Amino acid sequence: MTHQPAIPTLSANDPEIAGLVEAEAARQHDKIRLIASENYVSRAVLEATGSVLTNKYSEGYSGRRYYEGQQNVDPIEDLAVARAKAVFGADHANVQPYSGSPANLAAYLAFARPGDTVLGMALPAGGHLTHGWSVSATGKWFDPVRYGVRKETGRIDLDEVRDLAREHRPKLIFAGGTAIPRTIDFPAFAEIAREVDAVLVADIAHIAGLVAGGAHPSPVGHAQVITTTTHKTLRGPRGAMIMTDAEHAKAIDKAVFPGLQGGPHNHTTAAIAVALGEAAAPGFQSYAHDIVANARALAEALLERGFDLVSGGTDNHLLLVDLTNKQVGGKPAAQALDRAGIELNYNTVPFDPRKPFDPSGIRLGTAAITTRGLRPEHQPRIAEWIERTVTAAAREDEGALETIAAEVRELLGAFPIPGYVA
Ligand SMILES: *Cc1c(COP(=O)(O)O)cnc(C)c1O
Repeated sequence: MTHQPAIPTLSANDPEIAGLVEAEAARQHDKIRLIASENYVSRAVLEATGSVLTNKYSEGYSGRRYYEGQQNVDPIEDLAVARAKAVFGADHANVQPYSGSPANLAAYLAFARPGDTVLGMALPAGGHLTHGWSVSATGKWFDPVRYGVRKETGRIDLDEVRDLAREHRPKLIFAGGTAIPRTIDFPAFAEIAREVDAVLVADIAHIAGLVAGGAHPSPVGHAQVITTTTHKTLRGPRGAMIMTDAEHAKAIDKAVFPGLQGGPHNHTTAAIAVALGEAAAPGFQSYAHDIVANARALAEALLERGFDLVSGGTDNHLLLVDLTNKQVGGKPAAQALDRAGIELNYNTVPFDPRKPFDPSGIRLGTAAITTRGLRPEHQPRIAEWIERTVTAAAREDEGALETIAAEVRELLGAFPIPGYVA
């Protein structure tokens, strides 16, 4: 087995770590990876991430640094910023946030003070921790108000968003989340934010690649601030960006540095630039639409097998399945699926009667398998494996899981990944 790019020096100098890296490459090759926030980055992104740029300190912004020797880092960050602006059509981009959570913190630091009211989607309904959930600093240091989804439709309740906004007058409103299978109505959120004079933050971490590829409506022109990770559907390195209109640019830049961070991770910045170059290239539009086509096909195949999908289906890369009618919890199902070669995560479903650590649902996403080249015609097979696994899990039939894992490996043998040569 061989990780790509190859790691001969690491293998010689630290075989313990190298062995685990090799094993992880093989694991990523041998499994159907359906974790909705994950992907396979290109070898070019892997190479940029593993470069000497990790050696350099660059506190500040291009042309305004606190350390010398920025002859190469400045143009790299300039390229990343220019590509982000071009791909998304934004006035301004900051590519320095270390990850999605600190990117959201920057929005708080820029536009709210401790104790201010913020409005976000409740975590169990599909929001993110950093949208004011209680265990997060954002829920402890600010005064969070939360919206959810309608019980009958599983979709965001915009009437509730409007009512809460009018009643509580939040400083920030977050639109976006981690388990939303349907299109987010950014113009409707913008209208509500405008009415109560709140800053609308569109957190497009999950759907950034779909937005870049024209497979989900863009928040640009509706949200003053757009935060995103770069490693989910956008298929870049682990990192984040914040895009803003011209008016909110300065406050966001000051919040990221010096407000929250020191030196940017230049190897990540370079890899973000590379990923954005890929997102601007021909082919990415069809990649984004293929992700959605695969998710729709998987949804259809699961519905045919009697699975209960939150909201009844999907508009994007993500499916949320309520397993209550299958007589198995989300956690044992996810664990059995992992043993059967299908990797995903257990997840709460809206109005979940079970505990967050042992919830009723599983979450699936199609970004990684689409990168691999799986097509809608493969989705009925995946749905069949999921059903067989869930049945086997309910019966504690370990042998059935091994059979499925072998079938999965056989299918995947025809679909190489960028980070591994079998
Ligand atoms: C993934 C995600 C984040 C956080 O990103 P990290 O890089 O894990 O910190 C923030 N918001 C949303 C909506 C996400 O899906």
